[in-house]
Amino acid sequence: MAFNLFKNILKQRNLSLVVYSGVKQLSTAPLQKSSRHASRIYNLKNNEAILLSPKVILNEYNKHCYSTNVAPSTDEEYINEHNITIIGKNVPSPFRDIDTSGFPDYIKNFLKLHGITNPTVIQSQGWPVALEGNNFVGIAQTGTGKTLAFLLPAVVHLKEKEAKRGRGPRVLVLAPTRELARQIEKVAKQFETSLNIRCLCVYGGANRSVQAKELRSGIDILIATPGRLNDFIDTKETSLSRCTYVVLDEADRMLDMGFEPQIRKALEGVPLERQILMFSATWPKEVQYLAKDYLGEFIQVNVGSTDLTANHNITQHVHIVEHHSKMDKFKEIMHAVSGDGFGKILVFTNTKRFVDNLELTLKRNGWPAVGIHGDKTQYQRDVIINKFRSGRTNILVATDVAARGLDVDGITHVINYDFPQTSEDYIHRIGRTGRSQNKGTSHTILTSDDGRNAKSLLAVLKEANQEIPQELEDLARDFDHTKEIQRKSKQQNRGFNFRNTRKFGNFHRKSFY
Ligand code: AMP
Repeated sequence: MAFNLFKNILKQRNLSLVVYSGVKQLSTAPLQKSSRHASRIYNLKNNEAILLSPKVILNEYNKHCYSTNVAPSTDEEYINEHNITIIGKNVPSPFRDIDTSGFPDYIKNFLKLHGITNPTVIQSQGWPVALEGNNFVGIAQTGTGKTLAFLLPAVVHLKEKEAKRGRGPRVLVLAPTRELARQIEKVAKQFETSLNIRCLCVYGGANRSVQAKELRSGIDILIATPGRLNDFIDTKETSLSRCTYVVLDEADRMLDMGFEPQIRKALEGVPLERQILMFSATWPKEVQYLAKDYLGEFIQVNVGSTDLTANHNITQHVHIVEHHSKMDKFKEIMHAVSGDGFGKILVFTNTKRFVDNLELTLKRNGWPAVGIHGDKTQYQRDVIINKFRSGRTNILVATDVAARGLDVDGITHVINYDFPQTSEDYIHRIGRTGRSQNKGTSHTILTSDDGRNAKSLLAVLKEANQEIPQELEDLARDFDHTKEIQRKSKQQNRGFNFRNTRKFGNFHRKSFY
């Protein structure tokens, strides 16, 4: 009776019914109306009508877009062998190789053409999940093949799924920095001629009107940094109403950079009939909330641990010195590296001014170097990166603008003249070497000023089985000890101030400030 009543309501509203028994789907009819109405669809379980969240319904809408014939995952062997953790229901088996993968021939041919014979771990498990239309969270480090993990299913999505008419993008990739966005664009451009897919990258710091013009001419894949995208949405230069495949790359980094309002605003403009793939190196609460709010049900694949870990192909050296000896230590490292032989060296320092300073020092000492930082124009940054990429110069000094996403072949050494703000940034910086199964070496200079990060750095080194200098252990211990003393003295002062403030009125304020 109740069942028929609901059926009639749905019929009147021109909606269809999804019936579940527990988690197993019994029958699914295609949705005929915008899934903005999806919250009116009911789940009938034990003859009880339960309101399904729109996201559950949408996942069903996305499914069966492509016929991949992927069997549910029983590949325990693969999961254990590669230390992956999978969370979610009805997870498809990983693609162990390209030939037997569920990809259409044009993707298999593309991969063969580019010499890719075996998927990386995140690709192997991420591709079938994405091809089945699931929302996806991938926790994986940079350099693990994430870009193709989300771009290839995006291409299949474009080719196989019907789209609403219009000019707005059908695929959106959000990335935290212009460098990463440009790099994703480089990979996406490879589909432009061979598969007739138009892509565009928009980011701040470059000519807005040129980007706007291209945007208006119509594109398939839009790669954007959140700020510039919001700008184009606000001025109605583009709309995301056709966008049914969204990627949030380096979600943790985007949130760290304060882009959460821009990301949320962009996602609000995306239709509910969409698929979202989120990639992140870490899985903090903020990222989890974002996933919960916009992905609803998703399959999560953690490659390795969800704690941030350094690439194990990198040998990490840590040098603890007095502040005034940093430059001497740096030169000593440069001499040692030059003696051993190197491909390309990437040197990080924390300030723009010191990038210029170090570039000059290196040049004066016979090491031709170039420098890059946020005060250089996009054009200058492109020229410098290209010079480094092509090997016309093989020493690059940079601030954190080059810490993430920079994919330059042949970086054999990363040197941290300064320790970055956090150990997470440290992992990203050194991750510029040791990419795609190559070996790499990093050298990091620390002083007593870096005590704050000593403990987390210790954990990173331990996890990667690296040699740990005694001085680093001392630094971590001393810092903890000092912190404890400060905490105790603060507590005592609070008591003292409280009493004195009450007793002597303004005395406390006047004497201490
Ligand atoms: P990404 O993490 O997307 O920045 O990729 C890191 C590097 O790995 C890039 O140079 C890619 O071209 C390369 N790469 C991606 N997928 C594969 C694969 N399946 N086999 C070999 N190299 C790959």
